[in-house]
Amino acid sequence: MRDYSVRGLSAGELERARRELAASLALSRSGALSAVTAGQLGAVEAELAARKDESPTGILFCGCGYGTDNPVRFDAHLGNNSDHEPYDQP
Ligand SMILES: [Zn+2]
Repeated sequence: MRDYSVRGLSAGELERARRELAASLALSRSGALSAVTAGQLGAVEAELAARKDESPTGILFCGCGYGTDNPVRFDAHLGNNSDHEPYDQP
């Protein structure tokens, strides 16, 4: 299980791996095999969750075109430019 790597998989490959692991887990009759499969499934789901957190949906934009995913920096930008206002993405 320690050799099971999810880092190199694309998002599509991760989704497919998750479905296949979930399916084989549902079909598995062996306790030992289930434990391995459950571990792999957990690794895949953890990777998917981690990538979701890193997705750019959390980026803050300013009306001037400035953008950052760091709220502290964004506040500093607004503080340094009192005529700037946050820009809401459509
Ligand atoms: Zn700005």
